[in-house]
Amino acid sequence: MELLGSLPPRISGSVPGRVAHTWIDQLARAECPALTLRRARRQELSGASHDPVVWARAAGANVQDVDGNIYVDLSAGFGAASVGHAHPRVVGAVQEQSARLMHALGDLQPADVKIGLLSRLCALVSEPVRAILGLSGSDAVEAALKTAMLHTGRSGILAFEGGYHGLMYGPLAACGFSSAFRGPFAAQLNPHVVFAPYPKTTEQLSASLRAAADALAGDRIGAVLVEPILGRGGVYVPPREFLPELQALCRKRGALLVVDEVMTGFGRTGRMFGFEHDMETPDLLCLGKALGGGMPVSACLGRNEVMAAWAEASGTGPALHTGTFFGHPVSAAAALATLEVLHNERLAERARALGAQLFDALSRLRERPGVRAIRGRGLLIGIELDSPERSLACMRALLERGYITVPAGADARVISLTPPLCISSDQLAGFVSALIESLGMNA
Ligand code: PMP
Repeated sequence: MELLGSLPPRISGSVPGRVAHTWIDQLARAECPALTLRRARRQELSGASHDPVVWARAAGANVQDVDGNIYVDLSAGFGAASVGHAHPRVVGAVQEQSARLMHALGDLQPADVKIGLLSRLCALVSEPVRAILGLSGSDAVEAALKTAMLHTGRSGILAFEGGYHGLMYGPLAACGFSSAFRGPFAAQLNPHVVFAPYPKTTEQLSASLRAAADALAGDRIGAVLVEPILGRGGVYVPPREFLPELQALCRKRGALLVVDEVMTGFGRTGRMFGFEHDMETPDLLCLGKALGGGMPVSACLGRNEVMAAWAEASGTGPALHTGTFFGHPVSAAAALATLEVLHNERLAERARALGAQLFDALSRLRERPGVRAIRGRGLLIGIELDSPERSLACMRALLERGYITVPAGADARVISLTPPLCISSDQLAGFVSALIESLGMNA
């Protein structure tokens, strides 16, 4: 029997199939209504169905749905399954850990494995750092923003238009991705956030840095929050000078640079972290998604002298930032196994090599009608089409051919690719052919 993992797609019948439809009906009755309604609206916009496929199992770069169809996953489940879905080493660690110690007593009486993860994380960067664990990318950003407030005593945050940092109240206030996310909650959001334009092209660099410098000039900004590549915002790689110059500006004005690597971290861009392409270790680093190999775990790493602010602020009072499940033993074990797999299987190098191949193949489609741009680094690639209608319809056509992709960009006109780093070149070649067909092009 062929093993799920590196198979090409195998689709029989309609997508989603008969079994999925019974689940979708149940979903419509049970989930928050916003989601089902949104699918209906997108269907109206693109003329294509937006009913989801319903996942039953996944391994490597394959997903199997409840009807038995097999897909190639170009999303890695929003980038979380970077080492591949259900990597045997991660599954083994989860099984072993859950049988041994499922849950401990957080900060009061920590699990051994959580301490192991903290140490391992601190060894990932060259500077001496400490770590705060969380469960989601939002948690990591929240911890970084709190740290910056404590260390600098400044309430201001500078974030970037198009940036995405999660939707919990802390990060939401700094979500430049789309004002639609902030709008309904604006009255309750942190009012101390200002935005500067993210430099999507070399031409935009000086305006962006000038806006950042202006914002920092009043010495009220404590945290400058930035993605090394604008991910959900449409996969824009900034000009090389951007991050180092932003870092210099922060140092000059006494603000902390917070780099959000929730999407770019752990090999995706061809290096362990996205910032390593361009700059020195930032003051604070937010990590999530791929860290847990599919389990929920995130971390905020901060330079020792920055993190020292927590000791001063806590004094002998209560621990100021804890959560029942922070550093959950099973997630911690999964994260340790994931880091081992990333290293042993040289997945960052693999992302660099396969990413270059895929980028080349996609770049040949640049001149085709409907294709606006191909952007990215490593295995984080965006295909911008000329309208959201076209991209949503194209993603649907891809799904029907067995390829899972997700939209990016404020109006969803970018098809974003964040496949598991173990994906095979045959699977990627199959994707490129399916994309050509889905765009209605002749190869
Ligand atoms: N930061 C970045 C750069 C992200 O891409 C995301 C999620 N897409 C987040 C933060 C939020 O992570 P989570 O959904 O786990 O809260």
